[in-house]
Amino acid sequence: MFISKSKYIRGWQCVKNLWLKCYRPELEEQDPGLEMVFKNGTMVGELARDLFPGGVLIQFTPDLFEMAARTKAAMDSGEEAVYEAAFVHGDLAVICDILVKSGDGYDIYEVKSTTDLKEVLCVDAAYQHYVLAEAGIRVNRAHVVHLNGDYVRQGELDLDNLFCVCDVTDYAYEIRPEIEAGIRMMRKALKSKKEPEQDIGLHCHSPYECGFWSYCTKHLPVPCVFDITGMRKRKQYRLYGEGCFAFEDLIDSHLTGIQLLQVEAELHGAEEINTKGILESIGGFSYPLYFLDFETYMQPVPPFDGLRPYEQIPFQYSVHFFESGDGELQHREFLAKEGADPRRALAERLVRDVPAGVCVVAYNMTFEKMVLRNLANRFPDLAPHLMSIHDNLQDLMAPFKKGYYYNRDMQGSYSLKYVLPALIPDDPELDYAGLDVRNGSEAMDAFASLHERTPEEVEAIRAALLSYCRLDTLAMVRIWEKLRDMAG
Ligand code: SF4
Repeated sequence: MFISKSKYIRGWQCVKNLWLKCYRPELEEQDPGLEMVFKNGTMVGELARDLFPGGVLIQFTPDLFEMAARTKAAMDSGEEAVYEAAFVHGDLAVICDILVKSGDGYDIYEVKSTTDLKEVLCVDAAYQHYVLAEAGIRVNRAHVVHLNGDYVRQGELDLDNLFCVCDVTDYAYEIRPEIEAGIRMMRKALKSKKEPEQDIGLHCHSPYECGFWSYCTKHLPVPCVFDITGMRKRKQYRLYGEGCFAFEDLIDSHLTGIQLLQVEAELHGAEEINTKGILESIGGFSYPLYFLDFETYMQPVPPFDGLRPYEQIPFQYSVHFFESGDGELQHREFLAKEGADPRRALAERLVRDVPAGVCVVAYNMTFEKMVLRNLANRFPDLAPHLMSIHDNLQDLMAPFKKGYYYNRDMQGSYSLKYVLPALIPDDPELDYAGLDVRNGSEAMDAFASLHERTPEEVEAIRAALLSYCRLDTLAMVRIWEKLRDMAG
């Protein structure tokens, strides 16, 4: 069994994670966002090759020996750069994103789609440096290449500014003994058929959330201390270490107001309705009353001018509104055409659909405010109107965040997707389960993938996106009506 880069990083995080991955992989829960992370990684990795153009690509096959043989042939023939260069040394194996000839040796470049230099990336590069050196390759410098979060696109991509190239050679030498000890420890663990003994701890969440969490916490009641809303991990683990993990044990654990509500609701089914607080939160909502929700997507490599890596790009909104207290509920929506910069068309439609000076309600308005500020910065001619919408925003999440309403079904969350069924259960009009797009991440992925779809698929996805966003603002209207009734 090879200790590849990814296996080494697993073992570096937790040896039990590595062992389970090798012997009980079916226990791992997949992160739904992982596919997008891989997609982004591939996109950025391919682009970074242009920093060293003219190289040869070693196509991936599951047979690492074959890849290593093709890598050796490319190096022997004097290629200046080799992409996806594979090396095998005993039970150690690595694939280097970019290998570049340098003097009488080579430099290696590990490419990541993040915008900062995390320790795990340096460890990754250091492991490659170690394996290549062990395989007899002279490695002069080891680098991590990551995206520059401050880069703003203007015209053609400027790769020298889009990427940060960080030399981590000294670090690679510094942690060499640690890598050797790590490999010894991992070999020993993998030789054994017995699962390593390792209790949960902060390491389960960093550098990556571990997919074996459910398996490793099967001895804990549900819910438990790790489900308490807004509690720091350190405090959760301190309580866990003291044997306080069931909700019954947590009553006297210096819980905040909303945490106490959560525990009380779970243990006794208590429903909190603070009418004074609710009134205080929604009392300022006035007619004409608008409910607004944006959908955005983001790309590691900014696709349009004026964008940074991973900047949110709004592509859709839904607005439900009442012109007056006895008026009909009305609706407007916008969904951008795929493949072009959606921001100008969206901003122009938004200022037509939402008048300046009206009361606008969002759920978690920080996000809507950020989108509006970015649009206003981008389009100064529309800025006064956009900033009027921004300044008149009210937050429907506030009464839940402040604990003015709580019931057990909210499960410690005040996000719309938990609050809605907890407050208004079993309403088929408000059921997300029947939709093809059910949450913001799915909406983001669906819109970002439109350019790869057939016309029929595009039509179906666009219909699904419209249904989803429309339901978000309709849900806000119904929640507001319910709160208004509660507050009398
Ligand atoms: S959940 Fe924690 S203890 Fe269990 S395998 Fe993952 S990192 Fe290790």
